[in-house]
Amino acid sequence: MRTEPWSPCSGPCPQGNPETSAQEQDLLTSLKDCLKDLLTVVCCPLCGQTIEDRHPREAFCPECRQHLSLPSRGLQGIHPCRWTAAGWYEGNLRNLILQLRRYPDLRLLRAVSDGIGAALPEHAVLVPIPGWKAGARSNPLPTMICRSLQQTTQSLLKRSRPTIGQHHLNRQQRLTNQRGSFVVESGISVAAGVQNPGERQVELWLVDDILTSGATARAAMDALMGQGMTVSGVLCLGRTPMRRTR
Ligand SMILES: [Zn+2]
Repeated sequence: MRTEPWSPCSGPCPQGNPETSAQEQDLLTSLKDCLKDLLTVVCCPLCGQTIEDRHPREAFCPECRQHLSLPSRGLQGIHPCRWTAAGWYEGNLRNLILQLRRYPDLRLLRAVSDGIGAALPEHAVLVPIPGWKAGARSNPLPTMICRSLQQTTQSLLKRSRPTIGQHHLNRQQRLTNQRGSFVVESGISVAAGVQNPGERQVELWLVDDILTSGATARAAMDALMGQGMTVSGVLCLGRTPMRRTR
């Protein structure tokens, strides 16, 4: 290999670079491939293993997806309202959602939300449902799910009064607990078309981490509909299985 300083060529080499042998060419090619792999390698955010099958969005490896029982395009249903969820709120997915509430991690959240994103209409406008706890104790997930979906988001709602924890309430008690607990934030400019979807193809979707009886979503919808807005449905990470929906 030459060690002296290079001097500029006076013209192009007639047969390529005469100093690069076929062996060196091979070495350069494999080095280039290696660098390309290093720059584009994708790791699963849960187990850290390299994902062979490249995916345009951040996603789990097939094993972790199976471990969490995550369908590739999420789950959809119409009871108690139209909804799309990443998966059922049970087993390993339930544990992960509870972990994310305590230790929010946007990369993990992007991977969990992947199926919801795949099913989301192009012109959807997301509205996070604010939690009932205030300050540092508030649930960060609804807002973070919106961020992870990288979709137009409008924080239109706020809590008008505190509600009680719902773990031990049945559906009717939950409806009573949540009724009238949201108001539409004043002074927020609502995107053109949100209040009149006929003029433009806009779909307003509520976003929460868990959908159980739908009482919270119902109260949030009532507040928006009271202001003339139409809500298409609810997006959530986990949908409580019907047998546990009281
Ligand atoms: Zn994995």
